[in-house]
Amino acid sequence: MAQGRAVQSAPQHTVEWSGGRVGSKALIREINEALVLDVVRRRGTTSRAEITNATGLSPATVTGITSQLVRDGLLLESDVLRGTGGRPARLLELGRDAVVVAGVRLSPDAIEVALVDLRGDVVSNHRMPLSATDPETAADAVVAAVAAVRAVRPDAALRGVSIALSGIVDRRTGVVRHSGALGWQEVPFAAMVAQRTGGRAAIDSLVNSVATGLVLVDEALAERDALVFSVGASLGASLLVAGRIHRGYGGSAGGFAHSALGVRAGGRPCHCGGSDCLETWSSVWGLQREMERRGTAALDLDALEAANVLREGGAHLGIAIANAAKMFGPERVVLVLSPEVRATAFAASCREAFAGEYAFGDGAAPELVTVPADPDVFARGAGYSMITELFSADRADST
Ligand SMILES: [Zn+2]
Repeated sequence: MAQGRAVQSAPQHTVEWSGGRVGSKALIREINEALVLDVVRRRGTTSRAEITNATGLSPATVTGITSQLVRDGLLLESDVLRGTGGRPARLLELGRDAVVVAGVRLSPDAIEVALVDLRGDVVSNHRMPLSATDPETAADAVVAAVAAVRAVRPDAALRGVSIALSGIVDRRTGVVRHSGALGWQEVPFAAMVAQRTGGRAAIDSLVNSVATGLVLVDEALAERDALVFSVGASLGASLLVAGRIHRGYGGSAGGFAHSALGVRAGGRPCHCGGSDCLETWSSVWGLQREMERRGTAALDLDALEAANVLREGGAHLGIAIANAAKMFGPERVVLVLSPEVRATAFAASCREAFAGEYAFGDGAAPELVTVPADPDVFARGAGYSMITELFSADRADST
């Protein structure tokens, strides 16, 4: 919807976006606000006339929307007068100070928070240990961590808390369907956090959060088809269709970690209860487990056996992502690698196997880009997920 056409009335296709809110004036205003904000975001500084041209909205509508956004602090009006003849035009840019979002990475042992402003800049960071992984403790800890980081910008309105965690997450309902890392099943975590803060809360998987962040900051990914794979304690995947995350039924898209390499022979038990999942070969959890089984210190990179485990794990992942890419046909494949595997035989072997799968008969391989999974990339990405909602019409997917 980023550069889509303006919605002046309620056309048939709003059914997909809005559920029960079809045709409501509030929804149309939200969509039009998103269109206006997105034009300003992309252009940096722009005029009402340019917004009118870019969105197809009427000048009166643009004037009404921009006036409200200026009052809300989401847009700033400069005093610069443009041009010498005719009516002077005041320029608009995104407001920086009025609105912030707290992006949170929730992992089994720690909570990282990044306070993100409307332009996607991180205003403040905070990290605190997590004493226990049960949902109640985790929700309390998220709220405490957000309060700590929030003190840096007490005047800015907190638009909400956006939480990234490892697992299958239904962003629309705010329910964690399954998280092996946290040991959760069907936990309505977004509602639990929202109840405590009295504000909005949303959840997403780690990899979807990173993918959203990548699209917001990287114009090359906007409106493109791309696959994003993350390798950390668990494996994750995100499917970007025309720059938007495809979530699948119940948020299940991208759950490729527990797919099989071939016939399951039972050789590598997986934490999911099955065996021989890709997770057992190529996640950091699986790599460490296999090294222990072979009597090698976990991720002792000098050991030959460790190198073999890493090479095998990388090769299996490279083939798996090539298989997924052949099915989906993306322009780009992004590999988000955690520090444990980034500069190892794993990454090299993964690239090699991926390229090898395109040696015959399938045309050119999509571009493969590696992105480091720095500690704050997930928290920032989670914040971006909620910031991005301001720029897209897809508002009905958070609590
Ligand atoms: Zn499994």
